[in-house]
Amino acid sequence: MLEWLNPVKGFGVTFHTMFKKVPTVEYPEVKAPTMPRFHGRHQLNRWPDGLEKCIGCELCAWACPADAIYVEGGDNTEEDRFSPGERYGRVYQINYLRCILCGLCIEACPTRALTMTNEYELADDSRESLIFTKEQLLAPLLEGMEAPPHAMRLGETEEDYYRLGSQDADAAARADERNSEAVQ
Ligand code: SF4
Ligand code: SF4
Repeated sequence: MLEWLNPVKGFGVTFHTMFKKVPTVEYPEVKAPTMPRFHGRHQLNRWPDGLEKCIGCELCAWACPADAIYVEGGDNTEEDRFSPGERYGRVYQINYLRCILCGLCIEACPTRALTMTNEYELADDSRESLIFTKEQLLAPLLEGMEAPPHAMRLGETEEDYYRLGSQDADAAARADERNSEAVQ
C-alpha cells in the first residue's frame, strides 16, 4: 500500500465514527443497567435462617492482590452464634480506595459468603466512607431470616448447611445457563 495514503485512511476512520449513533446516557438521572455478571460492590451473604456464611478464614484477604480486605475471625459459642461451625467473621472490611474489583476474593471464598453485586456507584470524597464495614457489606435480612446471634435452625451441624450451599451452587449454575441462553 502507498504510504501517502495513510493520512487518508486515518480520516476514513474519523468519518466512519462520525455517523455512528452516540451512546450518551444522562447519568445520574438515567442509570444504564450493567451486564448480569458485572463485578460491583461486594456482599456478605447469609443462610436462609439469617446466620452469616462468612467463617472468618481470611482466604479472601490472602487472595486479594491489592490488600484491600481486612478480616478478624471470632469464635462462635452456643449462646452467641453468628454462623454455623466454629468461627465467624468478627471484623470484616473492604477498602474501596484499593479494590480493583477483580473478583479474586470471591473465587477464594470456600463458603460463597462473599459475592459481588452489580452496584457500581462507589465514589465518595472521604477515605473513611470508602472503607466498608461488615455491617455495610452484609446482605439484608429477607423474610424468614433472623438477625444473629441465634442457634442453627437449618440442621444439627455445619455440614448440613454446606450441603444446602451446594444446592445453592447448582441453582446458581442453572440460572447462569439460562442467562447465557437468553443472551445468545
Ligand atoms: S475484587 Fe480484587 S481487589 Fe477487590 S477486594 Fe476482591 S480481590 Fe481485592
Ligand atoms: S468472606 Fe469467605 S474467604 Fe473471606 S473470611 Fe469470610 S468465609 Fe473466608
